Amino acid sequence: MLIEERKVWHCVGCGFCCVNQRCTFGVARHPGAQNGLCPELEWTGRRYVCRLMMPTSDIADFVKRELRSGEGCVSFQNPWRRDVRRRTPEEAAAVGKKK
Ligand code: SF4
Ligand code: SF4
Repeated sequence: MLIEERKVWHCVGCGFCCVNQRCTFGVARHPGAQNGLCPELEWTGRRYVCRLMMPTSDIADFVKRELRSGEGCVSFQNPWRRDVRRRTPEEAAAVGKKK
């Protein structure tokens, strides 16, 4: 039997998924800031990373496992992927309004 290999789109750190739909950890940690850029998102100068997944986080392994980090992009057709850069609060707010 032929099994077609699934194409995996690697995460480029555009940050769109964390703006479009805040994860459980982001919601729990920041109940007062539900929209826009997640407060746990950090711009490194080249891409966004989640502070909760950094080696300095004591729950990094758990968060990575729960959110399937490393298993590919969860929103590979989003427009931010093609233009990875630091986003303004206005750009982040515009993502929420399109829903
Ligand atoms: S939308 Fe995809 S590329 Fe962008 S941060 Fe999320 S997983 Fe990574
Ligand atoms: S907690 Fe991390 S993974 Fe979750 S939405 Fe915020 S930045 Fe993204």
